[in-house]
Amino acid sequence: MIATPQSLRDSAGLARDHLGRFVASGAGLLALLTLLWLGTEHALDQEEANARNAASLRAHSLANSYATQLQHLAEQMDQITLRIAYQWQDAPQAVDLARDWARGLFPREKPFFVYIANARGDPVRLSFDPVHQTNIADKPFFRMLRDDCCDGLLISPPEFSELVDRQVVRFSRRLETTSGAFAGVVVILVEPNFLATFQDEAGQGPNDFLTVRLDTGQILATRLGSEREDNVIFNRQPPRFATERGVTLEPAATFRDARQRYVAWRKLERYPLVALAGLTEADALAAYRVLARSYRLTAMTASLFLVMFWAAGMVFATKLAARRRAEEDIRSTYRMATDAADEGFYMLRALHDDKGALCDFQVEDCNERAAALLGKKRSELAGKRASQVMHQALHRDLVEVVRRALAHGVYEDQLRVPSPSWLSATWVHRRAVHSGPGIALTLRDISEIKAHEEALADLANNDPLTRLPNRRWLMNYLPSALQRAKRGRGRLALLFIDLDNFKIVNDTLGHEAGDELLMQAALRIRQTVRASDHVARLGGDEFTVVLEQIDSDADAAHVAAGIINTMAEPFELAAGGGNRVSASVGISIFPEHGDDAESLLKHADVAMYAAKAAGRARYHLYHPSLSEALIEKLSRERTLRLAIERDEFIVHYQPRVGAHSGKLCSLEALLRWQHPERGIVSPAEFIDVAEDAGLIVRIGEMVIDKVAGQLVAWRDAGMSLVPVSVNISPYQLQSGTTSATLAAALQRYGLEARLLEIEVTESAVVDRSMVVSRELDALRALGLRLMIDDFGAGYSSLAQLHRLDVDALKVDRAFTRALSTGSEGEVLYRAIVSMATALEMTVVAEGVETREQLRLLQLLGCHEVQGYLISRALPPEDMARLAMLSVLPPFDAPTIDVIGQPA
Ligand code: C2E
Ligand code: CA
Ligand code: CA
Repeated sequence: MIATPQSLRDSAGLARDHLGRFVASGAGLLALLTLLWLGTEHALDQEEANARNAASLRAHSLANSYATQLQHLAEQMDQITLRIAYQWQDAPQAVDLARDWARGLFPREKPFFVYIANARGDPVRLSFDPVHQTNIADKPFFRMLRDDCCDGLLISPPEFSELVDRQVVRFSRRLETTSGAFAGVVVILVEPNFLATFQDEAGQGPNDFLTVRLDTGQILATRLGSEREDNVIFNRQPPRFATERGVTLEPAATFRDARQRYVAWRKLERYPLVALAGLTEADALAAYRVLARSYRLTAMTASLFLVMFWAAGMVFATKLAARRRAEEDIRSTYRMATDAADEGFYMLRALHDDKGALCDFQVEDCNERAAALLGKKRSELAGKRASQVMHQALHRDLVEVVRRALAHGVYEDQLRVPSPSWLSATWVHRRAVHSGPGIALTLRDISEIKAHEEALADLANNDPLTRLPNRRWLMNYLPSALQRAKRGRGRLALLFIDLDNFKIVNDTLGHEAGDELLMQAALRIRQTVRASDHVARLGGDEFTVVLEQIDSDADAAHVAAGIINTMAEPFELAAGGGNRVSASVGISIFPEHGDDAESLLKHADVAMYAAKAAGRARYHLYHPSLSEALIEKLSRERTLRLAIERDEFIVHYQPRVGAHSGKLCSLEALLRWQHPERGIVSPAEFIDVAEDAGLIVRIGEMVIDKVAGQLVAWRDAGMSLVPVSVNISPYQLQSGTTSATLAAALQRYGLEARLLEIEVTESAVVDRSMVVSRELDALRALGLRLMIDDFGAGYSSLAQLHRLDVDALKVDRAFTRALSTGSEGEVLYRAIVSMATALEMTVVAEGVETREQLRLLQLLGCHEVQGYLISRALPPEDMARLAMLSVLPPFDAPTIDVIGQPA
């Protein structure tokens, strides 16, 4: 890869982009994680607060119900002692505690001891058998009660009692006489755990405790879990819990087992006791802690997944970016290379529809030149679907190109950009290469080269006069039009248009007027047809129209009728207005009348000829039944025209000699066509055609010119000249131009009039039209000898002979032939000779082939003879040899009788 400033800039940009993506996505991830954990912790805080709240509530209610039970217990003790105190006062001797015990007046389920000590401290009444008999007079509580410290019940902290030999809590009361003197004490002893008996044991955990204390803080009893323990729970002197009631979270240090606890307390009414309940924080929050662990585990798992996901994404993105960078480097290199080469370059990726058919493609990349061709910027194209950024027609076309490239690997062509243009070029060279998953398409603007080519082609393909395409163009265009029609199973019509009477305008008003008329005619045709139809000028006054995509013959007929109508309008020319021509139109249809350009054109031409034959100014649809002869004739006409253009004509000369002397008196100019394939062609084959086609005047002019030129050549060669007779067709006389042509030739070559003779047929002379008479007069005036050719072949009778006013009669070959077969020929000849001689006309016998004929003609007094016996028509170069002879064969041969001398 080539590292260029551009590509370096690009890859630096890509790296920056990549870092940016990394940072941005990292920040996003962090935010997501934070949110996740904040949410989790917030929910857990809520849960914890709830758990703590519930713990303190439970501690509170535990303390309350414990206090209620203790209250009940204390009141029971109070009543028992108070009753005994009254009994003692009333009748001390009636008090029997053992009996009361037996009677069930004291609670029995627990160790419960009641005794009365007298004023000296001796236990005098007992509900039980004492373990040791002891005096209690020195006990502090005895003294306190004797000294009347307080009324009501006195409750002691746990202490050892010798009487029952165990640890007890003591409830005591002062006894009095009726006079109010000290009379002793009543005492109830219970084991401390008697106070720790709690009815509601269900809700208590193993580390939860219940404690009852004196107001002073001394603990009476404690229960931890279901165990009963004494004073083991608190570490050191616990707080006083001085208020009526409350809840507090006591730190771990308060307790011997170092467990933090919620402690609730409640003071009893009227008794100096406080009930306490303690719940360990650990137990209270146990459920919450399990929940928190699972919450955090979930959040942790989610976090882990997020991080892994992100990491995988980054790895993938990094790899992708690296690959893109590599691709981009290659492309930018290619872009630069192609931009420099002025080529539009696109990387395309084929897109297929559900059925797998190619339907669109994506522009993966392109260079600036390529974008400019579409009139866009590179950034507007990259990554887009072609259908979004291209003209519909271009898109459809390119899909086809891509399809071919996919099928064959490479596809290449030149394309004329259709109008309205979708490219900033009129011609492009396209090359599509299928490489890997994509297609590389290059477009090169070849408009300039094409414009040059087209200018050249234009010269070759267009008629300079009318600016219409010419025959060459038509023959190039038709095959492709036919291909299209074949593919589309459509029909195509070819109109062959020929202007009738155009020659008259051309001849009478001149070529300039003719050109002007042709230009106007071209314009009219153009305006009659649709813009999509093609009009061409074949040459002269012939045009063609190509109608593509016609539905029926009627469509073509309709156009033909339109053309005929528009041509019927008079033409306004600079030389004068109101010129009328008409058009004959032949129509051939593809595929019925031929499937190639040649035959369609030929058939349209035949049809046009049929239209002319049917009376002109009409159209005719080709039909195979149009006679073969017509076709043949047409083709002959064409070749004849071509022969004139190519100057394939020569003149041979046949001698005419004195019937008796054998002396050369004239040469008849006889036209020959030197056909490139057929060799020498006789005029008998083509004069008719030339007359029908109106070509005879031109041919006649040509003959006159050649003959005159030949005479000059002979003269220049030093030969003595004899006159040359030229055949003039009736059409030439009717054209009214022949006398002028002859005069001009004589003048141009500097020849005397006596050197040219004119042969015309009887029919021409009999036609007494103005033009013909004028022409004949003009010829006589020029001093040219006039001869009647083929005399006797028809028209006039001998009686009319005097009216012909000519110098010689050439008696038709048929009479000469008749001479040898019977007497009829002789009779006629004799009559002709005598009449003609009387009118001072020379009689010439044509077609003399035998010595017998010659002998008879001599006898009959015929003046001159011509025929194969003397000589065939020969090329001019043979004339020199002839000119050397004083008499021509067979007159020089001794076997020939020369009868008499010429007159
Ligand atoms: P045509 O004017 O009657 O010419 C004489 C024709 O008879 C010539 O035929 C000639 O070769 C032929 N011929 C001469 N001697 C004999 C013979 O002993 N026996 C036979 N069987 N034929 C003989 P070609 O040259 O074929 O010309 C035929 C016709 O073509 C001419 O008949 C003439 O009408 C016409 N033609 C020839 N040249 C011209 C021309 O320059 N202009 C015009 N308008 N017509 C021409
Ligand atoms: Ca002749
Ligand atoms: Ca003749």
